[in-house]
Amino acid sequence: MTKQVVIVGGGVIGLLTAFNLASEVEHVVLCDRGELGQESSWAGGGIVSPLYPWRYSPAVTALAHWSQDFYPQLGQRLFASTGVDPEVHTTGLYWLDLDDEAEALAWAAREGRPLSAVDITAAYDAVPVLGSGFQRAVYMAGVANVRNPRLVKSLKAALQAMSNVSIREYCEITGFSREGERINGVQTTKGIIHGDSVVLTAGAWSGDLLSTLGLDLPVEPVKGQMILYKCAADFLPSMVLAKGRYAIPRRDGHILVGSTLEHAGYDKTPTDEALESLKASAVELLPALAGAIPIAHWAGLRPGSPEGIPYIGQVPEHQGLWLNCGHYRNGLVLAPASCQLFADLLLGREPVIDPAPYAPAGRLASL
Ligand SMILES: Cc1cc2nc3c(=O)[nH]c(=O)nc-3n(C[C@H](O)[C@H](O)[C@H](O)COP(=O)(O)OP(=O)(O)OC[C@H]3O[C@@H](n4cnc5c(N)ncnc54)[C@H](O)[C@@H]3O)c2cc1C
Repeated sequence: MTKQVVIVGGGVIGLLTAFNLASEVEHVVLCDRGELGQESSWAGGGIVSPLYPWRYSPAVTALAHWSQDFYPQLGQRLFASTGVDPEVHTTGLYWLDLDDEAEALAWAAREGRPLSAVDITAAYDAVPVLGSGFQRAVYMAGVANVRNPRLVKSLKAALQAMSNVSIREYCEITGFSREGERINGVQTTKGIIHGDSVVLTAGAWSGDLLSTLGLDLPVEPVKGQMILYKCAADFLPSMVLAKGRYAIPRRDGHILVGSTLEHAGYDKTPTDEALESLKASAVELLPALAGAIPIAHWAGLRPGSPEGIPYIGQVPEHQGLWLNCGHYRNGLVLAPASCQLFADLLLGREPVIDPAPYAPAGRLASL
């Protein structure tokens, strides 16, 4: 049995990795340089689907489908055990005036997903607050959103209740501890923490950490800004999406509108330009928001990776070192499957999904 696993980074991926491993290994140490779950996993919108699922590779689709089916039970289990409800809210999603509607419908037929073209009047009947002038709509029933700040809070509470999990907040990892090429722990601002296995789940910062070993992991920060409104609980019955911008209703009437896609390094400052642009999108989608003042505006850093395909598995050059990172725009939806697959690989179990597309082997270069 693996004795101690050290997990580097406590976003949704690190939290769920710890949660899955805690019942299978002797001891789990989860480190974050800040508080758990306050980076991208807090900042995201929480749509439990890629924004345009038909535009992704089968590798992303496989993880997304497994996770979508799993989310309701994960939410219920976490709520029951912690009292913090991640609020998996199934609203369905309307795409409006898609350029690639035919591709979307062909994908849905192929994948057996409940996505279909609907008459635009039916969309207006279902979502009376929708802005005028849209010509076409595609609807997928069953799509949910998860209240991600509560998801990470409930995962943290679940881990705090596990006696074999140590949480180290404000503990920055600065590099790896090695015995030859084998990784046997991490160097931190508070000393070395040893482990039989080290898992890198540091989101947008994962590439920086791997570079300390001379390896080039193409994961880079992609800034996303979002705004929040508070409306009546029944204001918006479905998620709606047009021209890359979306509105997400929470159960209590909070409406998130996102998001921007910016390559700005590690800068997380919200900008006036993005605020104005997001407000314009909000009003185009939901004209009743004209004049409403957003109650919050923030930015987060997505862990951008080529084609959004995460890295899940062992680093071949360094025994003992594992990756679960690079989930780009879809880390919330992909988390359950990614972390289940990860646990299967680490523990040598039959994997739930073919692990080949996510394997780090062959996808890392030397610096
Ligand atoms: C605006 C926006 C909207 C989004 N919308 C959605 C959506 O609707 N659906 C969806 O599925 N996804 C969405 N995403 C993407 C999703 O949020 C991310 O893919 C996901 O949160 C990544 O999780 P993570 O755990 O890998 O990274 P993070 O949540 O960023 O966690 C990484 C953690 O590592 C820690 N860390 C970093 N370096 C170190 C170090 N040296 N030592 C110790 N700790 C360290 C950080 O402090 C952080 O807590 C969105 C993202 C943004 C920004």
